[in-house]
Amino acid sequence: MATISATDAALVWFRRDLRLADNPALHAAVQTGRPLILVFIDQRDRALGSAPGEAADWWLQGSLTRLAQDMARRGGQLTLLRGDPAELIPELARQHGVAEAFWNHSGEPDINARDRVIAASLQGAGTQPHALAGTNLINPLALLTGAGTPYRVFGAFWRAALRDLAPGTALPAPERLPMAAGQPAGAALRDWVLRPSNPDWACGLDAEWRPGEAGAADRLDRFLADALHDYADGRDRPDKPGTSMLSPHLGFGEISPRQIWHSVQTQLASGTGFQAGERFLAEIGWREFAYYLLYHFDDLRTANFNREFDHFPWRRDAAGLAAWKSGQTGIPMVDAGMRQLWATGWMHNRVRMVCASFLVKHLRCDWRDGMAWFEHTLVDADRAVNAASWQWVAGSGADAAPYFRIFNPIRQGERFDPEGRYVQKWVPELAALPVRWIHQPWKAPAEIRQSAGLKLGAGYPFPICDLATGRDAALSAYKEMKEGSANAPSA
Ligand code: FAD
Repeated sequence: MATISATDAALVWFRRDLRLADNPALHAAVQTGRPLILVFIDQRDRALGSAPGEAADWWLQGSLTRLAQDMARRGGQLTLLRGDPAELIPELARQHGVAEAFWNHSGEPDINARDRVIAASLQGAGTQPHALAGTNLINPLALLTGAGTPYRVFGAFWRAALRDLAPGTALPAPERLPMAAGQPAGAALRDWVLRPSNPDWACGLDAEWRPGEAGAADRLDRFLADALHDYADGRDRPDKPGTSMLSPHLGFGEISPRQIWHSVQTQLASGTGFQAGERFLAEIGWREFAYYLLYHFDDLRTANFNREFDHFPWRRDAAGLAAWKSGQTGIPMVDAGMRQLWATGWMHNRVRMVCASFLVKHLRCDWRDGMAWFEHTLVDADRAVNAASWQWVAGSGADAAPYFRIFNPIRQGERFDPEGRYVQKWVPELAALPVRWIHQPWKAPAEIRQSAGLKLGAGYPFPICDLATGRDAALSAYKEMKEGSANAPSA
């Protein structure tokens, strides 16, 4: 085996950790004093289900552009590659005399399993691999119940996590990125064509977002200054800017949960918004819980966490699903949410719950159909959080909302969009209706509809489902499932 000198390269493999600050893999590589090779591999791996949807691809393009610019300012260079990392990483190591390779754990068990194979291959060829913890606050292996089993209930999970949680200090961004001579030949980002083109629906995304580390830091600062103090109530109001909108930044790793944790703690130490801060950190906790669940139950994306739901009589309703996707269900809160999603790649959490509940309960469509659409259209599409959240709403998940608690989208609208502003914004057909009717336009007297210029069935649809009938049918289906599961032969 060749002798390794400090002039041999250190390779850093960027994944969903597209940042320079608080990046343990990058930090450790720079600490070695070795010249660097910095790569991002676009995997498009259908087998691992890791091919992102179009909205996430749009984000990726922006995030990689910013990362490359931030690196260039420090003398660094990002190499873009497309293909199978299990082949590319060992090949790069061989061709470029890489002494050590660094990356951050992904938090997803199948990716970590693949990474272990890559690590073994590198080690066998004389390159030292290092997989560091940089994605999550919680090590899923270190947090178990007294019986040694994984937590299944969020409250107990988070209380146990908080007992020992001591995220170390966030790491600074390296000042200089000294590069190895003879960098690998990479692709040009524009050749990857990550922007949706058919149809081209990215203009709303262009207007709404600023991907990249600086954009993430800016979002956090603005949230802490303007909205954290009122988060406990404000987080439920889709008509107001009450949440951080950090989810795509977190999802692509442009900011770490540890950085967020420390910034919030600093704000709390200054005496501002203690309860709101705790509430906000608990949401970061829900994100941790989703990764924790995926780690311990690796079929979370495909199988019902609660196997009773294997007996649920889901309906195949192509027309209902299409109306839901395009925001044409005739139920204003649902349509507003689905249109916000299409236009901006994001939807408010309260409305995600309302839209998901309508699909899986009133329409009784399989949660996996809804999850797939969200994955295609969300800029924050996240394999762990999306699956855990859909199962939570469907009632099949860990610590889930009971199936029989069925959101009424009219009541949800009246409660959380009391002046109808959210609906007015995303469903302009209803903008002139008095608030009293905006969440149930079909009940408005004909003359009021007429003076608001609303023609149901022409300008805006009648509800595709009568809410009371849909609710009753959902409850009957639930009963059928319970009976089916009680009568099923035990495994
Ligand atoms: P904030 O309220 O500011 O919360 C801060 C951060 O905490 C978020 O950025 C997110 O990382 C995390 N968080 C907040 N709420 C939740 C939650 N309920 N579960 C887990 N983590 C949470 N979030 C995603 O990031 N990706 C998804 O693919 C995704 N799919 C969802 C699907 C459904 C059906 C539902 C009901 C929720 C889904 N969520 C998903 C969770 C949540 O809606 C979003 O994280 C949140 O709306 C993002 O907005 P924010 O950054 O302003 O949140």
